[in-house]
Amino acid sequence: MIMKTEKSAALFEKAKNYFPGGVNSPVRAFRSVGGNPLFIEKGKGSHIWDADGNEYIDYCCSWGPLILGHANNKVLDAVDKTMRKGTSFGAPTRLENELANLILSFNKYIQKIRFVSSGTEAVMSAIRLARGFTKRDKILKFEGCYHGHVDSLLVKAGSGLVTFGNSSSAGVPESFVNETVVVPLHNKEAVQEAFEKFKNEIACIIIEPVPANNGLLLQGREFLEFLREICSINKTLLIFDEVISGFRMCFCGAAGLYNIQPDIITYGKIIGGGFPVGAYGASKEIMNHVSPDGPVYQAGTLSGNPVAMSAGIAQLTECLAPNFYLDLEEKTKYLVNGINKVNPFKLFKLFHLGSIFWIAFTEKETINNANEIDANSMGYFKTLYHALLEKGVYLGPSGYEVGFISQAHSYEDFDKTIKAFEISLKKLV
Ligand SMILES: *Cc1c(COP(=O)(O)O)cnc(C)c1O
Repeated sequence: MIMKTEKSAALFEKAKNYFPGGVNSPVRAFRSVGGNPLFIEKGKGSHIWDADGNEYIDYCCSWGPLILGHANNKVLDAVDKTMRKGTSFGAPTRLENELANLILSFNKYIQKIRFVSSGTEAVMSAIRLARGFTKRDKILKFEGCYHGHVDSLLVKAGSGLVTFGNSSSAGVPESFVNETVVVPLHNKEAVQEAFEKFKNEIACIIIEPVPANNGLLLQGREFLEFLREICSINKTLLIFDEVISGFRMCFCGAAGLYNIQPDIITYGKIIGGGFPVGAYGASKEIMNHVSPDGPVYQAGTLSGNPVAMSAGIAQLTECLAPNFYLDLEEKTKYLVNGINKVNPFKLFKLFHLGSIFWIAFTEKETINNANEIDANSMGYFKTLYHALLEKGVYLGPSGYEVGFISQAHSYEDFDKTIKAFEISLKKLV
């Protein structure tokens, strides 16, 4: 049976007149899997429905924020109650205190926090803070980590081991990119070389401690501990960009999982309960450099928005329930093991950590570096993707994207998904 997609297709045609590529964020355009994007009408729990009425089990979960699933009643009730009192004041509210208190009392890695409106904004502010604090200009990032569309981080590696980045977007001045050093992930020598080359010049290292925006490129504790040490020796700040990993593997994210103390942590996605919220946090000493206490300017008209804060409070309160993360991990293992059983020719592997998983078409046992991903394998993903859609399974529309399990996913969902994989895989062989 071919599924109906006329309404989504018509909406996409209209959208192309309004937005570049018909979308407000590029990956939504389905370019890497081909075909038209689905226009989503509604979501409830682990399921979404598109404009043509097709129902899907959703493993994209808005790219991670919806750890309780869609339209969670507790989040909706909190949002409803708050918004009836007004949606924005541009003045402090009690709700900002509440969300901050909730986060800080369970997180020993940061002492003060500042709320912003997106992950990109959190990262941009954290970089400025690191530069302001250290009075140094250069920053070091890893090839294969995504940190939002911050100018100085839209860079890709050049040809050497340690290189100044090449801009990966038009509109980013060469002079910006010249302040960003790019090295491969999971490569101590490259990091050491960078510190030798740019002694006393590097303000910060920024890393996704669980790199999950270009496949799932697990780094492990040892490499992260090495970064901690080399940063301390060189008086360079270590930034954990936990926009995707924060509140995902455990309440304290990757810092908590590996028990490593970064200097600054950025958050986004889950923190806002499905609303646009980001945050950055650090020790009091570092955060006291932020305006109005200190010289590093950073502001936002809608920062700490009360409706978004109440959604964040409702969602994070649920995350603190006993066994919340254990249950998510158990569910993820069930799904991953189930899919592996119906994957007899080992066409791909599922890598996972906590409730994040990634389908990698590889024969390698581990992949912890961007250049180990076989770009040609994305053709398989494309075929698998559309076969799964027809069977009612929705993944993020790119083979470089990870999937997410939410509290709302059920074992029934998983059994259906495993079955869908089994049927779809026959198309691949
Ligand atoms: C999603 C993401 C960002 C960007 O957040 P936006 O809210 O999309 O601006 C930054 N860093 C990481 C690690 C992310 O996963």
